[in-house]
Amino acid sequence: MRDIITILGVPIDRVTKKEAGKITEELIQQSKKTCKMIFAPNVEFIMMAQKDKEFFNILQQSSLSTPDSIGVMIGAKLQKKFFPERIPGQSYFREIIELSNKNGYSIYLLGGAQGIAQKAKQNLEKEFPKVNIVGVHEGYFNEEEEKDIIKEINNLKPNILFVALGAPRQEKWIFNHRDELKVDVATGQGGTYDYEAGKIRRAPKIVQKIGMEWFWRLCRQPKRIIRQRVLPIYLIKLIFAKDKTKGRFSNEDINTK
Ligand code: UDP
Repeated sequence: MRDIITILGVPIDRVTKKEAGKITEELIQQSKKTCKMIFAPNVEFIMMAQKDKEFFNILQQSSLSTPDSIGVMIGAKLQKKFFPERIPGQSYFREIIELSNKNGYSIYLLGGAQGIAQKAKQNLEKEFPKVNIVGVHEGYFNEEEEKDIIKEINNLKPNILFVALGAPRQEKWIFNHRDELKVDVATGQGGTYDYEAGKIRRAPKIVQKIGMEWFWRLCRQPKRIIRQRVLPIYLIKLIFAKDKTKGRFSNEDINTK
């Protein structure tokens, strides 16, 4: 049974990074290639889901959703609840890479600009000599190429498929293809490969620790201000909402198993 905090209708699990890794391993063992979905909701997700019913419904159907941002920590606090820790996408990604290095789980990296997933793979293989990355493909493709990508993934049958196409496209892509994908777990990963390939540098540890990574990213990628303008609206919505757990759409069908 999952221990979930719901913020404006979006369910997020009360888990640490280590627990998220352990749950992922359990899902791999139970899944038998049924493509369990793992998402990492942040404030942008929650706000997008208030307007996009399809995205809202997809987020209800994850087998695990990790608390990705300081905004979701605040969202829990406003309900007098708490997440044990924040799990930035790259931390979860690295936890799974370590588990693959230790236990041999096979991984496929889909997404990112040309050459980025390949470079991320090379860097990770240097750092984790036994990591089992069985395939990569960039994230810009047409419908015809998409069929070949799915064919390749299904030939390789990886335990974990990482998809980095930006939200909500990556979550919708996983959801729409989950019945044909022969993978145990699929998870959306945003810009993680860009960090692993060395294209973008993460904030210094101290900045991460005090929860200001969003500000660091904003300074380095000012275009993100357009995306982060939802933050004050999110806070206002939460402060004034009588029931902070309820979103615009109904969430009766949360996957609680
Ligand atoms: N991306 C992609 N295909 C697309 C759109 C985006 O592969 O059609 C990649 C893009 O190159 C980047 C990632 O998806 O690596 C988007 O990351 P974003 O910064 O949106 O995610 P965040 O880190 O904010 O979750």
